[in-house]
Amino acid sequence: MLTKAPRGTNDILPRDVAKWHYIEETTKRICKNYGFSEIRTPVFEHTELFERGVGDTTDVVQKEMYTFLDKGDRSITLRPEGTAGAARAFLEHNLYAEALPSKLFYNISCYRYEKPQAGRLREFHQFGVECYGAKGPAIDAEIICLAGSVLNTLKVPGLKLNINSIGCPTCRGKYNEVLRGYFASHLDTLCETCKGRYEKNPLRILDCKSPVCKGIGEKAPMLLDYICDECSEHFESVKKYLEASGVEYNVDPTIVRGLDYYTKTVFEFKTQLEGTQGTVCGGGRYDGLIEELGGAPLPGIGFGMGVERIILAMEAAGVMPEFDTAPDLFVATIGEKADVFSMGLIKKLREENVSVIRDYLDRSLKAQMKYSDKMNARYSVVLGDTEIEEGKAKLKNMATGEANEVALCDIAKIINENK
Ligand code: ATP
Ligand code: MG
Repeated sequence: MLTKAPRGTNDILPRDVAKWHYIEETTKRICKNYGFSEIRTPVFEHTELFERGVGDTTDVVQKEMYTFLDKGDRSITLRPEGTAGAARAFLEHNLYAEALPSKLFYNISCYRYEKPQAGRLREFHQFGVECYGAKGPAIDAEIICLAGSVLNTLKVPGLKLNINSIGCPTCRGKYNEVLRGYFASHLDTLCETCKGRYEKNPLRILDCKSPVCKGIGEKAPMLLDYICDECSEHFESVKKYLEASGVEYNVDPTIVRGLDYYTKTVFEFKTQLEGTQGTVCGGGRYDGLIEELGGAPLPGIGFGMGVERIILAMEAAGVMPEFDTAPDLFVATIGEKADVFSMGLIKKLREENVSVIRDYLDRSLKAQMKYSDKMNARYSVVLGDTEIEEGKAKLKNMATGEANEVALCDIAKIINENK
């Protein structure tokens, strides 16, 4: 127990962390190009925020949340997604009074009590964006472009973009009636959760993962055939903007998305990875969310991208770059004088942006060099009494074996020039 992490969690080990930095740096750079700024919100929020924001008929709220009472008897939930927290912060700090639209992004950990498998974890990570205050279709297309740009830059293979419109509360109200009519004759066979959804929110049945409900749902009337003129025009414009941006898409009328707050545009990016874990990004418009959380009516749109799934897809396709994390220099020492002297030299070198390692285990010179090899140091230098007296030492390039005598005070310059 003590040496086993909880089910569905992953350690990110030092040898893998560069992959995470690479993905995060890529998201930051692309978000900047699209005019999005980073926001950081707490890992936990009041439970009501997710019940309201995500929707109390969703799988996430009904089955997957990590909810507990804190020592002050408040109901607290570890965030299962990023939108509700970002929307809460947007309202709490009156960001709507600043220039609109407000364009935000985040790289966060999320928590869902799910059945762990490849690409489905209990602690996982999302890169997500949110945009509040723009209702026109241009931002929908831009946000889809941003997601596509991140995935393409990372060379995520076999990408497919599916889009759909799930209408607004007005057209969805009518559609829900049509759906109730359809599901009425199947009510006995639906799962227990979906029986409850039948009255409250029959659209949710279409997102159920149980094979029986899924089978019944596949033959249900399509929402896209029932959306109102305004929603339909919005959808047509999104498609036009995507075409103008050179983004290929498929219309998939079966996408409803797992969270209740979506309206109009919804979309998913899939890879060729098996099953539902192939969905690396899901998003859409949520024009009712800010009002639902107590703010003035203000449209919103965004997406969440699963970082673990991206890494799986990249690794399966062999497109994850190799990252060089080796230190620049290993400083070996002979004798006590050099051992002490090296501390000052190493500190200076580090201040000049050279990454330096040394021995801490009283190793022999031979063992020190073995350690340097293991750590893949690019250069090495051996300090003894003579080197200290003369202020010079042989700087060895470990890849070529070439060694040149250099002044100790020039080491940083030489290494930095050859980076
Ligand atoms: P799924 O249908 O796979 O359960 P979802 O609709 O619940 O996904 P969203 O809430 O839209 O997922 O989250 C956005 C993205 O976050 C997903 O497309 C996926 O890449 C990732 N994601 C969601 N849940 C998990 C999880 N448990 N483990 C790893 N990644 C996840
Ligand atoms: Mg899910």
